[in-house]
Amino acid sequence: MKIIEPSAELVDEINPEQILKKIEMCGKVSRKSTLGDAEQFVRSIIKRGHESVLEHVSLTFKIICDRAIMAELTRHRLASFTVESTRYVNYKDSLTVISPFKNDTVGDTFFRQAAYDAEKTYRDWIQSGATPEQARAVLPLCLATELYMTANLRELRHILKLRTDKAAHPQMRQIMNQILAVFKEKLPVIVEDIKS
Ligand SMILES: Cc1cc2nc3c(=O)[nH]c(=O)nc-3n(C[C@H](O)[C@H](O)[C@H](O)COP(=O)(O)OP(=O)(O)OC[C@H]3O[C@@H](n4cnc5c(N)ncnc54)[C@H](O)[C@@H]3O)c2cc1C
Repeated sequence: MKIIEPSAELVDEINPEQILKKIEMCGKVSRKSTLGDAEQFVRSIIKRGHESVLEHVSLTFKIICDRAIMAELTRHRLASFTVESTRYVNYKDSLTVISPFKNDTVGDTFFRQAAYDAEKTYRDWIQSGATPEQARAVLPLCLATELYMTANLRELRHILKLRTDKAAHPQMRQIMNQILAVFKEKLPVIVEDIKS
């Protein structure tokens, strides 16, 4: 059994300047106004709530989370997802899991035991002839899962606002703060109004 942390990384190689220019080009068609300071233009459309223009750009993130966070994330209907399938992937060699507890706490000890028991039962079932889609019945919610999420910048802003908030699950916030950090580094104007 392996215990890992949740994570998110941008898959696309992006040119931030080109992205801002594209948004400006699309946005300024409405008034046929001259192109100029793309960053300032993007800032002003966000401020005015004219966010449909942001839909012209989409990004893809690779996310590793547990099955519970995956279920929460995939509620975002305007994003596209492709998710590792427990019907086809065979976990008989080892389970990779994500713990909600810190190392060496009482909770961590119980967590490890439960995850180990699930791993053992899964392996026993597979060895006695069960298929992965049958044996998955014993897989725990803490099973680490790889997925790709693609969304346009408007939807990404929406997701970030909801899921970096203190009301969101700590592991969801961990993932979203990594996505927010990508924006802060590459496209800070898109997230100026979003706090981690
Ligand atoms: C802290 C927190 C706790 C939550 N707890 C629960 C819970 O206990 N139980 C539960 O079931 N869910 C829960 N959710 C999930 C929540 O109800 C939403 O399903 C999820 O956050 C997706 O949000 P959304 O619908 O705004 O976003 P998206 O699906 O990403 O949609 C983006 C936006 O598009 C628009 N939109 C999309 N589809 C429609 C539509 N059909 N009609 C009209 N407008 C639409 C809306 O403006 C929406 O905000 C929770 C979410 C959070 C953040």
